[in-house]
Amino acid sequence: MIFDCHCHLCDERYADKAALVLEYEKGGVGACINAAYNLASCYEGERLANAFPSVYFTVGIHPDNPQNATEETLQTLLALSRHEKAVAIGEIGLDYHWTPYDEALQQRAFAAQIELAAAAKLPFQVHSRDAAADTVTVLTQNKSKFSAALMHCYSGSVETAKQLLDLGMYFSFSGTLTFKNAARLREVAKYLPADRILTETDSPYLAPEPFRGRENRPLYVKHVLAALAEIRGEDVQKMEDVVWQNTLTLFPKIKERL
Ligand SMILES: [Zn+2]
Repeated sequence: MIFDCHCHLCDERYADKAALVLEYEKGGVGACINAAYNLASCYEGERLANAFPSVYFTVGIHPDNPQNATEETLQTLLALSRHEKAVAIGEIGLDYHWTPYDEALQQRAFAAQIELAAAAKLPFQVHSRDAAADTVTVLTQNKSKFSAALMHCYSGSVETAKQLLDLGMYFSFSGTLTFKNAARLREVAKYLPADRILTETDSPYLAPEPFRGRENRPLYVKHVLAALAEIRGEDVQKMEDVVWQNTLTLFPKIKERL
C-alpha cells in the first residue's frame, strides 16, 4: 500500500476534505496520517479519522508553540491518544528557524511529549529544523523512554542520520527529495537501511516535482515513492512494499486494524 505518513488534511486551505480523501484513494494511495500541531488540529484529526476509514491521526504540540504544551493540555492529548486510530504523538521536536525562539522551552516541551508517547505507548513524529544537534541530544537523554520514532521530512546529513539510526529512529522523505538541488538528501536516501524508510507529503507544504511551488496533496506521495525507488535503484512496487512494512512496524495500531 502506498502510504502518506505525515500530512495536514486539517489545514484550512483544504476546503473539501472528502474530495481530497477521495482523490488520493482513487489515485492509488491507500491511507494517510493527519499530523497535528496544536490542540485544535488534534480534535480535527480525530474528526477526520472518524469520518474517513483511510485517515489516521497524531496528537501533539508543534515546537513553534512550546508554551502550549501545558500539563493540562498533555492530559487532554493522552485522553485523545486512546482513540483506536490515534497512531502516534506528533508533530513534536525543535525548530530554531524563526527567531526569536526559546530553546529551553522547546526542549522541555519536546521531552514532555516523548514522555507522553511513553505513557500512551505510542511512537512519535519528530519535526527538526535547524536544530539537528539538540534534537539528537534530547532524543539521547530520553532514550530509555522509547524504542522507535520517526524523523518526519528528514533533511539532515548522513552524519546526523547515523546518530539517529543508533537511537532507533525511522526517516520519512517528502517532496523535497524530488527537488533538483536535493543532492545531500539523495545521498541520505541512498545511505539509509531499507527497513528505516517511510514516505510522506507534509501537504499542503512541499509539493514534489513537477508540482513544486503549488499546493501539495496526499496523492502526490506517489512522486516521493517514485523518487525514492529511483535513487535507491529499486523497483517501485518493491519500494512500496518495503515502505508499507516499515509503516506497519513503526505504527502498530495501524497493523492491529488490518
Ligand atoms: Zn508537518
